[in-house]
Amino acid sequence: MSSENSVRVRFAPSPTGYLHVGGARTALYNWLYAKKKGGKFILRVEDTDQERSTIEALNMQVGDLKWLGLLWDEGFDVGGPHTPYKQSERLSIYKQKANELIDAGKAYPCFCTEQDLEKKKEIAQKEGRPPHYDGTCRNLDVQQSLKRMAGGDKAAIRFKVDSSKSYTFHDLIRNEVTFPPNMVGDFIVLRSDGMPVYNFCCVVDDGMMKITHVLRAEEHLSNTLRQMMIYESFNWPLPLFGHLSIILGEDRQKLSKRHGATSCHEFMKQGYLPEALLNFISLLGWSSPTAQEIFSIDELIKQFDLDRMTPSPAVFDQKKFNWVNATHLRALPNEELWSRLVPYLDEHKVGYKKDVAWQSQALEAFKSSMETLMDGVQLFRYIDDNHFEVSAEGLETLKWKEAEPVLRAWIDVVRNHPHDFITEAEFADLQNKVKDQSGQKGKFLFMPMRVSVIGKPHGTELKLLIPLIHKKVLIERAEKCLKI
Ligand code: GLU
Repeated sequence: MSSENSVRVRFAPSPTGYLHVGGARTALYNWLYAKKKGGKFILRVEDTDQERSTIEALNMQVGDLKWLGLLWDEGFDVGGPHTPYKQSERLSIYKQKANELIDAGKAYPCFCTEQDLEKKKEIAQKEGRPPHYDGTCRNLDVQQSLKRMAGGDKAAIRFKVDSSKSYTFHDLIRNEVTFPPNMVGDFIVLRSDGMPVYNFCCVVDDGMMKITHVLRAEEHLSNTLRQMMIYESFNWPLPLFGHLSIILGEDRQKLSKRHGATSCHEFMKQGYLPEALLNFISLLGWSSPTAQEIFSIDELIKQFDLDRMTPSPAVFDQKKFNWVNATHLRALPNEELWSRLVPYLDEHKVGYKKDVAWQSQALEAFKSSMETLMDGVQLFRYIDDNHFEVSAEGLETLKWKEAEPVLRAWIDVVRNHPHDFITEAEFADLQNKVKDQSGQKGKFLFMPMRVSVIGKPHGTELKLLIPLIHKKVLIERAEKCLKI
């Protein structure tokens, strides 16, 4: 096996809700790196926060990852050489590893209660000391402590920190990062209820699962110090760490719900394509050497590399996202675009014809006005036989004195049309007839006609809309407008 083939990366979500764009970007970068290097992408579920982790949230995250196409080689549901991949099923492993640290003199049981610790913190604060653990239980005899535990006394397991040491690592994105001595005191690795803390189970898992690269959010940079200490205590090699740039909203504040949609699920609902979302988020912290901005997934795999990552904050530019989505959407062959659109039409109860030629013709008419699939829903609603609604602006147009003669002439020429549908070429001819019969031209001709077709005076060109609607529906609609 070449060394490149042994790349092992993981995405380790805490399942507490839908997948956020930040999480999706972390998953994407890890996935791209695995694909590029022919390595393995692992999905590990970090569900030790039992109050916040739910099975529903896990299913939501898994659904979002599958929708994006970021599939895993090993994971809680597909198995692999390091099962289980769900932390809540690995508690005995963490316990065993914590015991190994105690045996090696690198950790110790701590009987201090929450209240004791609060008091200690207050005292440290008053004395102007950092709020590090004061070491009360560090000096207890370990054998005695273990006996107490066996007798039923509750104890957490605390890691012995060498506070005189500084720690340095080479971040794949930020270069050298140094943590000076005495930044942290002895910290808990296993709570008294047997639940591990994140830093501990993360290292135990990354170490045992032979993870080679850890690309994760910037907010975990400070955790890396404790994690390095734990790696050292097990004599395990450090993986290579890369801490991704933070994602900001357009107001340069950390991206949050305040900025609007931030979860993949919401973007899916809004009609963004998964490949466009991946393309867009790939650029939040990475850039191609060629400055290319529109990528297929295969192109991303080819071009992605860790040397083009930036530590500077990335701004989530909604307009750019729309452009990226529109570009992907318009590049899809009509048949494919239709298959993507249909579930949205069905969900929003917009009717359509089963005829492939009609579908393709409609997409041709609307594609250039569609940035998202939900734009498509709006547009197809106009040509749904069972839906006709006149907008406020449409009502104003119908009040014009020119409207009535136009509508009457329109009904007349459509009624006399010999076929069920009117082609674009035939429409040019019919329009001239309406013009002659009504004596109207320009906007006084087009706007009332358009209102009678789609309920509003502006929008897609009439010559593109008319061929999509059955003659009898056109007449029904115009008659309805006359009655208004
Ligand atoms: N469960 C952590 C999170 O969701 C993973 C952090 C890591 O990648 O180490 O933020």
